[in-house]
Amino acid sequence: MADYQLLINGELTDAAAGETFATYNPAKGEKIADVAKAGKEDAVRAIESARKAFDDGPWGKTSGKERAEILNKIAELITANADALGEIEALDGGGTIRKALLADIPGGAGAFQWFAKMAEERPDRVDLPGSPFPVSQNYVLYEPLGVTTGVIPWNFPFIMACWKIAPALAAGNTSVIKPATYTSLTALKLAQLIQEADLLPPGVLNVLAGPGGTVGEELASNPLVDKVAFTGSTEVGRRIMQLASGTLKPVTLELGGKSANIVLDDADLDQAAAAVLWGTFFHNGQVCESGTRALVQKNVYDEFVSLLADRAGKIVLGDQMDMGTDQGPLVDKSQVETAERYVALGREEVGEPITGGAKPEGLPEGLDINMYFQPTIFADVDNKAKIAQEEIFGPVLCVIPFETDDEAVAIANDSIYGLAGGVQSGNVERAEAVAARMRTGTVWINDYHLISPERPFGGYKQSGIGRELGQQGFDVYRQAKHVHVNPETSGRDNHFQYSVLSGNI
Ligand code: NDP
Repeated sequence: MADYQLLINGELTDAAAGETFATYNPAKGEKIADVAKAGKEDAVRAIESARKAFDDGPWGKTSGKERAEILNKIAELITANADALGEIEALDGGGTIRKALLADIPGGAGAFQWFAKMAEERPDRVDLPGSPFPVSQNYVLYEPLGVTTGVIPWNFPFIMACWKIAPALAAGNTSVIKPATYTSLTALKLAQLIQEADLLPPGVLNVLAGPGGTVGEELASNPLVDKVAFTGSTEVGRRIMQLASGTLKPVTLELGGKSANIVLDDADLDQAAAAVLWGTFFHNGQVCESGTRALVQKNVYDEFVSLLADRAGKIVLGDQMDMGTDQGPLVDKSQVETAERYVALGREEVGEPITGGAKPEGLPEGLDINMYFQPTIFADVDNKAKIAQEEIFGPVLCVIPFETDDEAVAIANDSIYGLAGGVQSGNVERAEAVAARMRTGTVWINDYHLISPERPFGGYKQSGIGRELGQQGFDVYRQAKHVHVNPETSGRDNHFQYSVLSGNI
């Protein structure tokens, strides 16, 4: 039996083929657990059980209030198991235990609470006043879509699982979720907790770890699936959209980014430096909406850049399980190699970084230096450089000078991405005018990274399609059915439309 099993049709189970894969703590290379490795057969079985649960089971007939109660119980379950979930999250992905306990686990519980509120408060029937036709009554029923699937990335595995499961269930759908192979433990643990608490009918929630190329592709293409939600790279997002188009499934895509954090010359430079460093180096820059381009106004540029270099050197790299650590290991060696490749490119394009640029010296004993990378800052970067245009997904910041607010907006928008951005300024009105012109799904003024389940999140341009969270993130899991009722049950004269076709029928 695998240490972490799949949840299919209300049972915790090994993969049909009996395969497993091992998962490791990236900081030390120690094995954490063996995980059941689903194949296509398991994915099909999970989808079929979700279909049956939706079409024939009790779930589709529950009221929003009933579903809200269950979602709130899941939130309580998460909170009661927060320490265990936080520890697994940090061990498996390399994010700090501080991030896991303060952001990931409470954020996941918060998503269930928010969507419980949506299930309870958003009406499932809206009567429409007036009518374009005589004597008809009209209303709209908001109904679940059916079987929904979610494919999630490795950088925020727990919260991403919650962002996909909670709105789907809140709206009355059934759900099949695939976590990323690097970090599948907390999604599987959540499934196990929900199953053991006996909170859902069989088949309503299914969770499968397994390769994207087989399990992920099945979740995106199987004709029994009614909607796909994906978070990950823009490249795989394109593939998901292609696969979903076979049966015209609606998709929600949350993809990559290269967000601009604009520092205006009236900003409190001390506070702005903190916002830029936190905006970039939180979780080693492995965050889709990281502010990896800092746009800094020329008259404060030199002072600001030296503040950044000085402060970046104070970020503490170490064991992610230590509460004092700011940055743990990257998730995998391939991510370190990507950072190294881009830093080498940056040296060609721009010159020496003003800080960082290598693996760190002096890590505590027992940590694998090959899994770490220093916070790295390139200054005087041209926005056309590849390091300013391409997503690195590692701890690398590009600082770009600008002269006017118009120029800052133009540089910020000169990107194929449009996920998020920041404006740091002492004048909120001025910052809001800049924010209004940025073509991104979120802008933080005098802040960064603050995402709440209550506010919509998603991207413009090649950063994605649709929104998660907020009211919008609930509505995309339902569809509208218009019902037209003619209350006159007899008498042709009351049925005006027949005369449009022919007075004789
Ligand atoms: P990937 O796009 O490679 O993988 C994301 C998920 O998709 C994983 O579960 C993966 O499975 C699966 N997958 C891979 N190939 C396929 C396929 N052909 N069909 C279906 N599913 C597939 O991204 P990463 O996990 O590597 O995450 C890093 C990237 O994701 C970055 O570019 C980042 O910007 C973006 N991202 C965007 C976020 C956002 O909210 N906009 C949030 C987080 C990340 P497996 O693990 O088995 O390969």
